[in-house]
Amino acid sequence: KNREFSLMIRGRIPGGRLSASQYLAWDAVANRFAKDQSLRVTTRQSLQLHGVLKRELKQTIAEINAVLITTQGACGDVVRNVTQAENPWQDPRISQLDRFVVALSNHFLAKTNAYHEIWLNKKQVLNEQVVNGQVVNGQTKDADNETFYGDTYLPRKFKIAMTVVGNNSVDIYSNDMGFAATFDDGNQLDGFFLFVGGGMGMTHNKVETFPRVADCLGWFSVTNLIAVAEAVVAIHRDFGDRANRKHARLKYVIAEKGIDWMRGQVEARSQTQLLDLPLPTWKSPSVLGWHLMPDGYWAYGLHLTAGRIIDCQSRRLKSAIAALVAEYTLDIQLCADQNILLLGIRDKAAAQSILEYFGVRESQITALDQRALACVALPTCGLALNEGERVLPKYLSLINAQLEKYGLSARAPVFRMTGCANGCARPYTAEIALVGRSKQTYSLFGGGCAEGTKLAALLVDNLDENQIITALDKLFYCWRQQSNESERLGDFIRRLGFEQIRAQLIDAQQT
Ligand code: SF4
Repeated sequence: KNREFSLMIRGRIPGGRLSASQYLAWDAVANRFAKDQSLRVTTRQSLQLHGVLKRELKQTIAEINAVLITTQGACGDVVRNVTQAENPWQDPRISQLDRFVVALSNHFLAKTNAYHEIWLNKKQVLNEQVVNGQVVNGQTKDADNETFYGDTYLPRKFKIAMTVVGNNSVDIYSNDMGFAATFDDGNQLDGFFLFVGGGMGMTHNKVETFPRVADCLGWFSVTNLIAVAEAVVAIHRDFGDRANRKHARLKYVIAEKGIDWMRGQVEARSQTQLLDLPLPTWKSPSVLGWHLMPDGYWAYGLHLTAGRIIDCQSRRLKSAIAALVAEYTLDIQLCADQNILLLGIRDKAAAQSILEYFGVRESQITALDQRALACVALPTCGLALNEGERVLPKYLSLINAQLEKYGLSARAPVFRMTGCANGCARPYTAEIALVGRSKQTYSLFGGGCAEGTKLAALLVDNLDENQIITALDKLFYCWRQQSNESERLGDFIRRLGFEQIRAQLIDAQQT
């Protein structure tokens, strides 16, 4: 009997930035090799192809490499794709992050030549990124000499995000390590606040596993970036749990050894003093919709449901994006909220006509929809206990209806759902979240905040669809009755306290 094996391929795309030719290459590769010809934007600003047949894997990877994008280090126990604040405004302060994000990505790319031997017939490619048509930070790869990772690499994956102070579009607190840039009086990047120890993954009923938001360790000068970053990743490498993969993240090292121990380690290893400076408050602008760029061109932030770029009969989204990218030679930035930025549109009206032609109309996207995330879950992810992406539209319409019922649509919460407790769509920093518990049920979490700085907690466990609707109805009713007109759901849950909210929702399970 002939069996077909299929796999997922993910790119390493620092900051989610692609040139037009790189995006169109992914589009073409998806047409030929992905199971349903779709692309999927991930929560780490990357692209995934699903259902690539095993026999076509090598050719797919080779074609992606041909446009100077690698898939190396997008999975595995190494530093993963480095994320970066989105920039539809061509804000020169955010643009200064570009080269640092590429430098970090390159610095932590494994040196081994095995990837090239296996997938590219030993041919070495340059480890470069093309940004706005320019090759940035090109470097050739060394031979098999893993000076940093050593023989055994990291205990588990390691996630890095970079942003500017005040803009948390990358959900910096959910990363193992994050950098928030500061600027001098001349708007030149002069340093970073360092964040460490965030992470979303947990396992149901295993108390030694838990989600955690990162701590701010202090500020340091820009010249020490690589030294500080290397020190933090090395602490994960040297102290991370190598016996239990469920417990092998930097957040557990910090939770167990303490933040003062961590600060001491980073300062000693990097020879850098971390200064205790006040951190500006976060206020992240939306990147969706039209933005006039300083050069007179337009940027358009296009909402994607669960990051999926696919053609349907009445809405040919994938064709619309490819047509716009080809017509205007657009740069692309993929968003950590699974949306896509189309950068450099000359003619807004003509671009709107192209979107219309392909049936892409954005008027129906609600405030809830705009920030909702879902992981891929069933049937694609082998770890999934329940559905994610496929049922997101159903839950969005149920929750939208409940928000409307209580007149709360303008205060729509940040909602996320995942097929299991690993938390790939960052459910534990959302205001409400559904986390797959079994084939039929989810755990309801709540109490994160819109700026991603607070941790949600389990409110009710093991709810089926009807019980979820009942629980949310009770929650929204309490929120409507007991809050003022501006209090957001996550803030309301934390103000009342998790215990009191649980007490109000507990009978939802008995319905
Ligand atoms: Fe898979 Fe769980 Fe991650 Fe969803 S959260 S993609 S189900 S591992």
